[in-house]
Amino acid sequence: MSTVVLLTDDAELITELQQAFAQVAPELRVLQAHQAGAAEAEVAACWFPPPGSLQALPRLRLIHSVSAGIEHLDSSGSLPPVPVCRVVDPEQRQGMVEFMRWAVIHYQRHFDLVLANQRQARWQRPPQCPASAYKVGVLGLGSMGSAVAQDLAGAGYAVRGWSRSPKTLAGVDCYHGDSGLPHCLAGLDLLINLLPLTAATERLLDRQVFATLAPGAVLVNGGRGQHVADADLAEALRSGQLRAALLDVFEQEPLPAAHPWWHTAGVTVTPHMASAASAHCIASQIAENTRRLSSAAPLLHRADPALGY
Ligand code: NDP
Repeated sequence: MSTVVLLTDDAELITELQQAFAQVAPELRVLQAHQAGAAEAEVAACWFPPPGSLQALPRLRLIHSVSAGIEHLDSSGSLPPVPVCRVVDPEQRQGMVEFMRWAVIHYQRHFDLVLANQRQARWQRPPQCPASAYKVGVLGLGSMGSAVAQDLAGAGYAVRGWSRSPKTLAGVDCYHGDSGLPHCLAGLDLLINLLPLTAATERLLDRQVFATLAPGAVLVNGGRGQHVADADLAEALRSGQLRAALLDVFEQEPLPAAHPWWHTAGVTVTPHMASAASAHCIASQIAENTRRLSSAAPLLHRADPALGY
């Protein structure tokens, strides 16, 4: 019987995963780190694994993130040299598409201004910009970003995308690499970030990026809080270079009650809700990869720790 150990301090997540594993893979022994037998685990299912917890597993053969990203694995220290996989959930991808549809329509049709006007009983029609003239950029064209970019292109928006390697997506002007970034950004009305957090992407969203967008552009951050240079964002909002920022992810979550973003003009805070993988999908994919490990079959959704995603 294979053993999976759950490495996280999130008690709610542990309960959800235990229930999901019991349903989808009753043949697996699923333990918490403190339980007897946990040290024999071949598979570690992780969300911010506690320091040293991965290194304490001598029989470890697979590190499995329970999320799309793998940046949180660093919390354990340097990773043991075993494969790393992540979760790719089609329903989570659909959730991200819905969230970004809402975000784009909200700002394209100026609902942010209309709602602010209502609070002052002000009747004022906002300007109407057709979708075809509204330029949206998507940073990151992976599982999430490619679906979002294609959905928006299908809805008629003028969409550009950016990735590390070259891509071809129907209806999307694709750019790649460092040299492609300024071309992707130039004059955008709204910028969506769906990059993974890596050494190369940390604080990428800075004053230079904001200055390349159209004056009065909007930032939508669905990646990670550390993608944003906070002081540069505050200044871009203050100066009007950015009209608004929709922030779904933060360096510290939950966002502390005293954090300025809660009350900064133009900022909308959402509680890391853009989309979540279901416990059922997480448990199913980890169980499938555990079976594949036993039969020496290729693992699904491998990440590259050297690249950070
Ligand atoms: P993927 O790994 O599938 O895709 C990552 C994309 O980013 C790829 O297109 C990749 O390029 C590109 N990329 C990575 N590094 C660079 C770089 N240095 N320069 C240019 N492009 C780069 O990730 P997902 O789409 O599954 O998820 C992306 C991120 O979204 C997650 O890591 C997570 O942070 C965030 N997320 C947020 C959620 C939320 O609720 N807010 C929910 C789910 C995810 P290439 O294709 O060439 O490899």
